[in-house]
Amino acid sequence: MSLGAPVRRQGPPGAGTVRDLAQPGRGAWSFPELDVESTEIPEMHRRRQAPGLPEVAERDLVRHYTRLSQMNYGVDTGIYPLGSCSMKYNPKLAEVAAAAPGFARLHPLQPDATAQGALEMLWRLEAALCEITGMTRATLQPPAGACGELTGLLIMRAHHTELGNPRSTVLIPDSAHGTNPASARLGGYRAVPVPSTKRGLVDVDALASLVNDDVAGLMLTNPNTLGLFEEDIARITSIVHDAGGLVYYDGANLNAIMGRSRPGDMGFDIVHINTHKTFATPHGGGGPGAGPVGVIEHLVPYLPVPRVERDPDGTFRMSEDAPRSIGRMHGFHGNFGVLVRAYAYVFFHGSDGLQEVSELAVLNANYLASAILEDFPLAYPDSRPMHEFVATAARLEREAGVRAMDVAKRVIDLGYHPSTVYFPLVVEEAMMVEPTETESKETLDGFAAALRQAAAEARADPDLLHQAPVTAPVRRLDEARAARHLRLTWRAEGSGND
Ligand SMILES: *Cc1c(COP(=O)(O)O)cnc(C)c1O
Repeated sequence: MSLGAPVRRQGPPGAGTVRDLAQPGRGAWSFPELDVESTEIPEMHRRRQAPGLPEVAERDLVRHYTRLSQMNYGVDTGIYPLGSCSMKYNPKLAEVAAAAPGFARLHPLQPDATAQGALEMLWRLEAALCEITGMTRATLQPPAGACGELTGLLIMRAHHTELGNPRSTVLIPDSAHGTNPASARLGGYRAVPVPSTKRGLVDVDALASLVNDDVAGLMLTNPNTLGLFEEDIARITSIVHDAGGLVYYDGANLNAIMGRSRPGDMGFDIVHINTHKTFATPHGGGGPGAGPVGVIEHLVPYLPVPRVERDPDGTFRMSEDAPRSIGRMHGFHGNFGVLVRAYAYVFFHGSDGLQEVSELAVLNANYLASAILEDFPLAYPDSRPMHEFVATAARLEREAGVRAMDVAKRVIDLGYHPSTVYFPLVVEEAMMVEPTETESKETLDGFAAALRQAAAEARADPDLLHQAPVTAPVRRLDEARAARHLRLTWRAEGSGND
């Protein structure tokens, strides 16, 4: 793709909301001719006022929504290098598996005897996740990473409560994903930050001074949210264990280590995996996902119910028989369709395939980091990044008054989805990039060239970047206002509904 030739995403002019297309008398519905006696809708079910739906022809309606969908950008249109989000290309084979009628048309209340294939799939997926993470058993129920974290923390609480001291704090590195402190709070804990060193790793001495018999555990991401592997991981986990705490692994993204090392072998007790990130389910926009949680042997009794068990004769059944369980975290069996996709992903890659996935994810991130190094240096140049890296636009800001946000907006004009910016919070003008293993060298080269072009433009004409994006369907949004005034639906003027 040539640079400077933005992807055309706008349709013909004149399309605002669907209401702008309305003409009295038009409609997009057609009912078959009535062949039974007509009857009035009972008074109690009638509205006082007609709902005021726009009268739009089917053709205009289809074009309107198709045009809107074309304005969108997704992994099926291009690279989506949002650090920490793992927006990899989702193989269509997993979609085919999830759509198989035997899975897609099952009812969650069907008797076990009629759903043996589905139960076996869940059972095998659980076993595979335990193998990958080094855990003993896992629950597939949590519908997202954040819910997996809460599940893990409730297990942590159940463990300490049974020992007679529930403990009240959880330690979390200052570079952690925002869901970690939020989940700790929801789980009834106080979150205490652990500082990072100049190299972007956990400050082990600070950690040692923070642990005590009121610390329930440590939540850690490894490689951490800066994309760096915690070299002292064995010491870190033993410091927490020596004080009677548990160590929780935020495995939202296992891309860096899958098939190469296992959280269980590093000393972790509880692990969640985001299957939508690691094993590629279309995500973003709020879901759907799955955040299975694995635990080591002595925490198994606390796992949520129901669980899939296999009887000696080989039949599978859902079991509620676990008196020390923390209970349910989600209706039925979690997001079943997402679990089918994870199963398909794991088993069509196989163990060597999964290892290759993580190798390529790390290679791609390092290749891209090197390609933009001169304009966007690594925030922690002394540590080698893994599947994602954090670069900084701080120098560009000093030299040209152009910020990471301006660069991100300009990249949209150049036809790409920008990286994550301003996260992790500990890095000035952070640009967190995760290309994932699914992108080709040509795509990585194109994205790097766009970033370099944006840097060159910033020095020559900073205003160009301050104005960006100029070719996108919408210009720069007031993000602070959008976050403070959460109006997610359109309302007719004067409807009194807000
Ligand atoms: C995405 C992510 C989460 C949260 O996962 P959700 O499925 O969005 O709830 C937690 N931790 C890390 C490191 C993540 O990247």
